[in-house]
Amino acid sequence: MSAAPGPAAVAAADPRAVLPRAVTDRRPSGELVIDWEDGARSLLPHGLLRQRCRCAACEQARRRGLPPPEPAALSEIRALAVQGLNLVFADGHERGIYPWAYLRALGDEVAGGGGESA
Ligand SMILES: [Zn+2]
Repeated sequence: MSAAPGPAAVAAADPRAVLPRAVTDRRPSGELVIDWEDGARSLLPHGLLRQRCRCAACEQARRRGLPPPEPAALSEIRALAVQGLNLVFADGHERGIYPWAYLRALGDEVAGGGGESA
């Protein structure tokens, strides 16, 4: 019987990869820094976070093929305990909820070095 998951499967689903240890807002460089429990660190530019907002209004604009919003700096970070972060931007946008798994995926994408296709 081969129903038991092997070590590789367990590592891929490591819950520590989406468990934040520290969240730091580096305003001078315009980056949100998240240190994860698995030892990784994500550097998330404020402007990218604004453009990748997943609130209903932004998702709808994206589906309609509208251009992404102008990049904006973070003005406030509201922790939502287990869910993730509610980020407030300098342009007044405050609807975006960013789950930890989404922030980790964005961070990995940024670290991957511009592999993004438009
Ligand atoms: Zn939004």
